[in-house]
Formats: sequence, C-alpha cells, structure tokens
Amino acid sequence: MNTSPADCCAEPSRKLLSVEEGRARILDSLQPVEGVERLPLKSATGRILAQDIVSAIDVPCFANSAMDGYAVRSQDCPGEGDTVLEVVGSSFAGAPFEGAVGRGQCVRIMTGAVVPEGADAVLMQERVEREDERIRFASGSVEAGLNVRYPGEDTRRGDTVLECGKRLGAAEIALLASVGVGEVPLRRRLRVAFFSTGDELTSLGQPLEAGQIYDSNRYALSAMLSAPRIEYYDLGVIPDRRDAVRDAFRQAGAMADLVLTSGGVSVGEADYVTETLAELGQIDFWRMAMKPGKPLAFGRLGAAVFFGLPGNPVSAMVTFYQFVLPAIRKMSGEKARAPLLLQARCAGDLRKAPGRMEFQRGILQTAADGSLEVSTTGLQGSHVLSSMSRANCFIHLPAESSGAHRGEMVTVQPFADLGY
Ligand code: AMP
Ligand code: MG
Repeated sequence: MNTSPADCCAEPSRKLLSVEEGRARILDSLQPVEGVERLPLKSATGRILAQDIVSAIDVPCFANSAMDGYAVRSQDCPGEGDTVLEVVGSSFAGAPFEGAVGRGQCVRIMTGAVVPEGADAVLMQERVEREDERIRFASGSVEAGLNVRYPGEDTRRGDTVLECGKRLGAAEIALLASVGVGEVPLRRRLRVAFFSTGDELTSLGQPLEAGQIYDSNRYALSAMLSAPRIEYYDLGVIPDRRDAVRDAFRQAGAMADLVLTSGGVSVGEADYVTETLAELGQIDFWRMAMKPGKPLAFGRLGAAVFFGLPGNPVSAMVTFYQFVLPAIRKMSGEKARAPLLLQARCAGDLRKAPGRMEFQRGILQTAADGSLEVSTTGLQGSHVLSSMSRANCFIHLPAESSGAHRGEMVTVQPFADLGY
C-alpha cells in the first residue's frame, strides 16, 4: 500500500492497530534474507543454520564404558556367593584392549574406553576387591548392558541432528562437533542501518546546550543489535530538515536489509519520517494500540524493510523488542518461536486505563514460597530510562484491562526472552 503523507497523517486518533495484529502483519510480509555462507564451526555461535545437518556417523560410534571398572561377561556372574574373575588386560580411552574376554576373565576398563569383544557389562570399581591379577565381588545382578553406552545411543548415522533455521548456541556447537561437522552453512548476516532524528539531540562527548539532550536511542539500538547474526551501521543524528532526512533514507535504504530510525514519527511539525517514507518508499501503518510506543511506522524502503521507532527512549526499546526483534529473527532465517510468557503474582497495585495494551516495566523474583512475584519499577513514563534499567521483565497488561490489584496474577515476559 502506498499512502500519501496527507492520508497517513489524516488518520490520527481513529483506528489503532492491536499489538498482535500489527506483529502478525509485519511477520507475514517478511522473508528471510537469501545468501548462505559456510563458516568454521568456531565462528558459527549465535548464527542461524541455513540447511539441515545430517550425521555421517553413529555417536557413540563404538560400545564404551560409562564407568571406571571391569569389563565382564554377564553370564560369568551368577547370583550367589562371591565371584572371582581373572584380569587379563586393560582398555583405556583411546587405547583399546586387543584381545577378547573369555570365560572367567575380565578386563580393567576406564570411562569412554572400548568394551572389549566378549564382554557385555561393566562392573564399577567400587563394587570389587582387587587381589593381584584377580577381582572378587559379591555376586548380584550383573545384567548384560550394565554401564555400557551403545553405538548410536545419542545420534544415529543418517539422523538430522539440527534443522535449518536453528540458532546455534553452545549445545548445538558441541553437538555438531560430536558428529564431526567442522564447517556449517549459515544464513548471511542481516545488514541493519539506523539513525536518530531530532534537532535537540547531542552526540556524546559534546556539551549540552540549552534545550538539548543526549541521544540515547542510537546507543540503545547498537546494544540491542549487538549479535553475531547482525552487521549494523550507525548513521548518526539527522537534523529535523526534510532534505537531511531524505538523504539519510536514501543512504540507509541502499546499504541495508533493515532500516531503523528513531523519532519524528508523531504528528509534530518537525516530524518528517513518515512523510519521507511515504515519498521514497511504502508505508503500511503507523499507530499501535500500545503503551508506551503508540507511533510506529512500518514499511519498505526499496528492497529494505523499514521501522520508524518512536523517539521516547523507553517507547523505542519496547517497540524494538515487541516488533523489530521478531522481524529480525524471521529475516535472519530463524525458525519462529513463541515468546516466553509467565504468570506472576502482583506484589502491589498496577494502574492502567483501558484502551491500549501496556508493557509496564517490572521486577520479577521468586517469592519465599517459591512462586513468582512481580513488582513495578515505579515511574512508567516513556522517557524514564532508569525505570527500564531497574526492570527485568515486561508486565503485559491487555488492552481492555484496567490495571491489576495486589495478589492478582499477571502475564510477564522476562527480558531473558528478548535476545537472539
Ligand atoms: P519525537 O518522536 O521525535 O517527537 O520525540 C519524542 C521524544 O523523544 C522527545 O522528547 C525527544 O526529545 C525524545 N527523543 C527523540 N529522539 C531521541 C533520542 N535519539 N534519544 C533520546 N531521546 C530522544
Ligand atoms: Mg523529534
């Protein structure tokens, strides 16, 4: 949809879009970036797999011992009295016993060592008494398979060990190494360009003049975009001038898969972001039924996806986490995952007016009885970054809710869920 500036600005307080509807529309319109690169496993942490990975081997690939002890034949260990077996050799991890275990014999064995031919169980060393080249132990049940790890128990040859779209964390890197994969096909990194707009913004290192504030949104964005799957470009502060905003849009659109701006999406007189997007690209919608963060521009700028985030610092962060992060996950080829939402008891009253969904900032903790409890961080203004910093979760209050009383259950989203 290509809306003229007049159209988009004529909408003001009419229809607000619900958060779910907005997120669904955004995600429906996005595709993962094309382009695959093969990288050594060590450089793949935090990246997204571009193909299924099939194991070429069984893991374990031979029967091995789960304990330090003695490899025995289970049929040599009857149920009564003491059993005595002759120790005929040893099997160490990486240095197997070369022969076979015969009747009345056993082999000293270490964890991870090959279970020798003939043996089918491992007695842990704490159960035996060693007498020179013999062991003695109180007979009891020694079943075939005791303390033996069988081939393919973890992964079988031909199994898909990881699927396309999987994010590679430490466990996945370890799993790939265990099946011998040293190089992995990954989605290429997502290119994200961003800039702040506003004549009042001062860059760090410069003194504040009257009426000026420090630009915090670019720092928030660079922090929120610091991830192995992202290559970001900080294009600085752009003044509130039509031509300057237009130039910055052109530059960002030419270099990135995703363009983010902050500020200039309200209907103020110096708010050129929506207008410029409508002129140079396509704007889809721009008012969300949420608090903080009502104004949000979403659209296209050439081949790039565009988000115009609100200027207020907390609004910019909330909007980023609720819309841009899921978009980045999808664009970088990650398989969709539902947000982690928990139920927690309110430690105090939460004020809210019905109408818009709120993402209040909360402190989630485990109460003395083990249940989850959430308290407010205090001031909830969209400019109060200190309150955002005290928080460790968002408290999701639905649009129709009129707040919550102490003791009521509310939905919370831990910040731990808001990563890559
Ligand atoms: P705007 O969306 O441009 O109308 O800005 C809304 C509010 O956010 C104003 O109080 C701005 O001064 C503030 N603001 C805009 N951009 C930034 C930024 N990059 N860092 C900190 N505050 C900002
Ligand atoms: Mg502004």
